[in-house]
Amino acid sequence: MPALCDRCGSDKLIEDAKVEDHITAGRRVALEVMIGHQKGSGMRGDKPVRVPIKARICGECGFTELYVSEPARLWRLAQKINRAG
Ligand SMILES: [Zn+2]
Repeated sequence: MPALCDRCGSDKLIEDAKVEDHITAGRRVALEVMIGHQKGSGMRGDKPVRVPIKARICGECGFTELYVSEPARLWRLAQKINRAG
């Protein structure tokens, strides 16, 4: 069953578009979400986890959804951080 646009119901969805910030100093920078960056997050010695954001764009109305590709992994990490704190 094809995914449909949440706003207009169209099936003209463009999947997995990459979301980038403006080009800075000649480099393209993907937008990311980050967890584990708070002080005392319990991730001792670990670097914050960064996950790139992807977009799904409706080719009919332009509605754009943002999402991450590995939500389950992010959720497990977030729970680990919360427990440690
Ligand atoms: Zn739409």
